[in-house]
Amino acid sequence: MRFSAVIAAAGSGRRAGGDRPKQWRLLAGKPVLRWSAEGLAAAGAERLAVVVAEGDEDAAAEALHGIRGVRIVRGGAERADSVRAGLAALADAPSEAVLIHDAARPFVQPRHVAVLLEALRDADGAVPVLAVADTLKRTSESGALSTLSREGLLRVQTPQAFRYATLSTGYDAWTDAEPPTDDAGPVELAGGRVVAAPGDPMLMKLTYPEDFAMAEALAGQARVTRVGQGFDAHRFGPGDAVWLCGVKIAHDKALIGHSDADAGLHALTDALLGAIGQGDIGDHFPPSDPKWRGAASDQFLRHALALVRGAGGQVINADVTLICEEPRIKPHREAMRARLAELLELPLDRISVKATPTEAMGFTGRREGLAAQAIVAVETP
Ligand code: MG
Repeated sequence: MRFSAVIAAAGSGRRAGGDRPKQWRLLAGKPVLRWSAEGLAAAGAERLAVVVAEGDEDAAAEALHGIRGVRIVRGGAERADSVRAGLAALADAPSEAVLIHDAARPFVQPRHVAVLLEALRDADGAVPVLAVADTLKRTSESGALSTLSREGLLRVQTPQAFRYATLSTGYDAWTDAEPPTDDAGPVELAGGRVVAAPGDPMLMKLTYPEDFAMAEALAGQARVTRVGQGFDAHRFGPGDAVWLCGVKIAHDKALIGHSDADAGLHALTDALLGAIGQGDIGDHFPPSDPKWRGAASDQFLRHALALVRGAGGQVINADVTLICEEPRIKPHREAMRARLAELLELPLDRISVKATPTEAMGFTGRREGLAAQAIVAVETP
């Protein structure tokens, strides 16, 4: 079922602490509002009406930059006014379904939306609910505790899914002085039926400062893994040693190149740059620049690592294959792994160095030069 969404982000909730309302606070480097919008966009929302408080329009445009189908709408005093404003912003070409979501629930995933839309097939509204697991108590004026029954009690989450026409009709028909406390009220007023759908603890709402601590831990789980690969080759020339993977190996030839021609480090540098979409080693260290003549290639790798970290990323592992008939790699493999582990600041078991000859075929087989390829995994927000 095609759907659009309204994200309510006009609240001024400050129980979460901090000097800005919670939807603007950063979670793993991204505003909470962006987490919610990205989750709904990833689930396939055709349009997103993001309802913000007056004066927050520019901040919203910045926080949501690059997300498709976003319309920023000014909200009202009550949540219901904001939902109305969001529905109105979608009225020119409404999708069959509309999801209403609180910006402060950042971990909405496509699977949550799929469950709701499935429940909506035979209803006019579908609301995610969870059972109450904790024992409930009430305090009296004297401070004494008494136990309440949990029977029949449910916790309600968002996003909630509705048929656009029914929800919109219900809001138009709502004439009470008191605004509806949730969106099911207007649907029922319009004669619609609202059903329960399974909720998910991941749809937690950020309300208190300790919620942010838990959300930061969960946001870490939500990081994505990217892969980058690199390839490099250098020609043999006169000399008495080659550099490979940051280790100097005595040999009766050298590798020719502008820097120290360490093909292993160059391939690995390209793999890191590839994982974060940052071009290649030549973009960052042009061979035409005399300052890189004879340069030690570990600085190229360090630079790429700094770019990965600048993007909020973390290298998970690296795997390098050296392709050559000579020099013999095996006696130096452990020294290479140790050097790469040191440069990438990773434990040794995250680093692999392998070598293979090419059965006397090709340029490596003719001993004209050698090649290296590398692959890395990088985790980023
Ligand atoms: Mg190179």
